Amino acid sequence: MAQIIDGKKISAEIKEELKEQVAQLKKDGIEGTLAVIQVGDDPASSVYVRNKKKACEYIGIGSKSYELPETTTQTELLDLIADLNQDDAVNGILVQLPVPAHIDEKTIINAISPAKDVDGFHPESVGALTIGQKGFVSCTPAGIIELLKRSNVEIDGKNCVIIGRSNIVGKPMALLMLRENATVTITHSHTQNLKEICSRADILIAAVGKKEFITGEYIKENAVVIDVGIHRDENNKLSGDVKYDEAEPKASMITPVPGGVGPMTIAMLMHNCVEAMIR
Ligand code: NAP
Repeated sequence: MAQIIDGKKISAEIKEELKEQVAQLKKDGIEGTLAVIQVGDDPASSVYVRNKKKACEYIGIGSKSYELPETTTQTELLDLIADLNQDDAVNGILVQLPVPAHIDEKTIINAISPAKDVDGFHPESVGALTIGQKGFVSCTPAGIIELLKRSNVEIDGKNCVIIGRSNIVGKPMALLMLRENATVTITHSHTQNLKEICSRADILIAAVGKKEFITGEYIKENAVVIDVGIHRDENNKLSGDVKYDEAEPKASMITPVPGGVGPMTIAMLMHNCVEAMIR
């Protein structure tokens, strides 16, 4: 039976540590505020935004909320970001994605000052990660590294296969695993022999965005399996990119959905906010 990697517990530990750190920073006269911008009222985005604001409150940093109508123009959004970039009281800026189709996501990401880019999506942040310099790291992959380290998973020298090459998960994940001295393979929709490649992985990270795509056949005996996927069915039940019932008996350790990678993303966002305060 696989050991469950408990993301809820680990994220709670991280938030506790951050709370103490924020209290100390406050004693030294350093305050933190995260600006959260949402354009439109997509229900899933509203839940994410609400949870992010709650997490800020929990660790003791302020949050400024900008709930803009769906009709907001790109110029209006860029003007707000420019103001927040200049505002010394704001340490972090987050635009909840996706933005409506008439707004260019890349232009928005590029407009956020790299010093306040707590999502770690700005090209400067990604570039810093690529060449091993200090910078904000995308929260989900950073959270996975914390899950592995705090569960005492040996990464150094291990074969890591990542399924997915998105800018927010797959690519930064690969760079982080490389930084930890894993031997990294990135796979995507053009990869041939995916099953065979995955079944060689000591650490398998599934960020494919397809419900229960990774079946037992993809998993090496005693592999560590990290499931990034989030899929909600008509009854609101969550499942991941991994077919848990088939993967769990083969894996040595596995993240569940829910309660695995999911809670880590907000914890690492809070980590980045505290980093922004310190900087
Ligand atoms: P994405 O942008 O849709 O990327 C999916 C990746 O999977 C792409 O690189 C795609 O390849 C690859 N892919 C698709 N079909 C494939 C196939 N048949 N074989 C191999 N690779 C295939 O998704 P994402 O944003 O990275 O997110 C991935 C999953 O994680 C989603 O379920 C998402 O909801 C979830 N997620 C969770 C969190 C969290 O906090 N837990 C955060 C972010 C995302 P191509 O590049 O060739 O198209």
